[in-house]
Amino acid sequence: MYLSLGKIKDRALKESLKSNFRQIVCSKCRGTGAGWEADVAMIGRRSVHGFLATGTLRDVLGINERSNVSLLAAKKLGLSGVKVSARIGDLSSEVQNRLLVAAVVGEPLHEVSIISGISDARSKRIAAGILSKNGMHFLSDTKK
Ligand SMILES: [Zn+2]
Repeated sequence: MYLSLGKIKDRALKESLKSNFRQIVCSKCRGTGAGWEADVAMIGRRSVHGFLATGTLRDVLGINERSNVSLLAAKKLGLSGVKVSARIGDLSSEVQNRLLVAAVVGEPLHEVSIISGISDARSKRIAAGILSKNGMHFLSDTKK
């Protein structure tokens, strides 16, 4: 809807559409975007659909903790409770910044610097350590 707002010339109509905008979770897929097949495919005792709707990164780690360096980095950065179904834009910028660090260690680029907005001091230290182990550098763009 927001993509088409720019094309509307009538300012009053545009404001009315904006102020009446409500985002509702699709009841059919519970906001996951998954199709019917996600109800029959299982991960352990849970359907893929249930997993996507209510699972967290902690649950993903529970499946196979050694399988993914990004998930391990996310755990170290205190992101285990982030829901699998979370939209990146709905997360706080602190969580987004930590997720970025976790994501890049999955495909490390040697001698690349990551400029990060992580503000939590402990997470900064952890991020710097994780990136350093993977041949990258952590640069903070926050003052603390
Ligand atoms: Zn849906």
